[in-house]
Amino acid sequence: MIRQLTLGKDHVREILDHVNLHAPLEACGLLAGNRDRVEKVLFVRNQAQSPVRFVMDPHEQLNAFDWIESNGFELLGIFHSHPAGPETVSPTDIAEAAYNVVHVICSQTSNQWKLRGFHIENGEVTEVTLQTSA
Ligand SMILES: [Zn+2]
Repeated sequence: MIRQLTLGKDHVREILDHVNLHAPLEACGLLAGNRDRVEKVLFVRNQAQSPVRFVMDPHEQLNAFDWIESNGFELLGIFHSHPAGPETVSPTDIAEAAYNVVHVICSQTSNQWKLRGFHIENGEVTEVTLQTSA
């Protein structure tokens, strides 16, 4: 179980630009890297086009998985936005968590975006520390 995930400043900026662009709809994507360090952010279209839920476009998701594997990375995390909060995973997120990776929530409250990470296993939610490196 991952207890900590490190993202570069540029990754954080990429994620925030992306989720901001798609707000008020939820946006999503994948975080790839090795061990606990993210090396690449991959955006995947939210097929649900909804402000309260996301469903990854299966074709884009598959392409992203292929890219991750062929570049020697692992899937470390899945991120999606909560453009109107909350900061934490929703009951739907917990019920639909299909991968044993860090679930990163980019939430917006009073025009400020915040990133928090969670590990979800058998309905149990544990916070994962997100670190930002230069
Ligand atoms: Zn959610």
